[in-house]
Amino acid sequence: MNLILMGLPGAGKGTQAEKIVEKYDIPHISTGDMFRSAIKEGTQLGQEAKSYMDQGDLVPDEVTIGIVKERLSKPDCSKGFLLDGFPRTVAQADALENLLDELNTKLDYVLHVQVPEEKLVDRLTGRRICPECGATYHVEFNPPKVEGVCDHDGATLIQREDDQPETVKNRLSVNMEQAKPLLDFYSQKGYLVEVNGDQDINLVFEQIDEKIGGLAK
Ligand code: ADP
Ligand code: ADP
Repeated sequence: MNLILMGLPGAGKGTQAEKIVEKYDIPHISTGDMFRSAIKEGTQLGQEAKSYMDQGDLVPDEVTIGIVKERLSKPDCSKGFLLDGFPRTVAQADALENLLDELNTKLDYVLHVQVPEEKLVDRLTGRRICPECGATYHVEFNPPKVEGVCDHDGATLIQREDDQPETVKNRLSVNMEQAKPLLDFYSQKGYLVEVNGDQDINLVFEQIDEKIGGLAK
């Protein structure tokens, strides 16, 4: 099963991705996570991406497309994949179509998780992540069992640098501008599935599972 998760920052892509990949046993490919690990490891990719991410701007297409090409060509993606946070521009979507052609495969669904804009700022500023395993929490809406500590591995949770209020505003406006043409692109191709992300985390997953479940083998 080849899936894309779309939605504005804070819509719940990472949260739903954790559940989807567990149930459907496909790799979770998050360009944001890939950039964050590159920054942590101090690689050249990390250095290139950091200044854009710190401002809440998009990393240039050529860099982003390059890392996705490399990742999708790995053998574990032959059973399917879940792309989270990619594509974010029509140029990225075009590049993905070409790449999937080369790999002799195609998309199944593009899941668009929708949440009213006014709720996104609270979701983002209250987000906490595990620096070890990448699990996502929220101080109020999805707290860990012990405050500030990851349920999975006991690591101390951190706040992403780009989840500060000032950066959040820019990220939302940059992403909103890109989203519309991208949604039109996938809608015209018949891949788009709308998901109501403004409800309990488990209910959002049930909705996704129902919509894509028919294809699961
Ligand atoms: P994205 O990957 O789309 O940016 P995340 O999955 O990281 O979004 O979610 C953003 C924040 O909102 C996190 O703190 C997460 O715990 C919280 N969250 C995710 N889904 C929901 C939901 N359905 N209701 C309330 N809060 C949610
Ligand atoms: P969110 O969905 O919460 O904004 P991500 O982890 O997906 O978070 O992205 C964090 C940052 O990484 C983005 O603000 C951007 O700078 C960079 N990034 C991630 N994916 C892409 C992409 N497909 N194209 C360009 N930049 C990206």
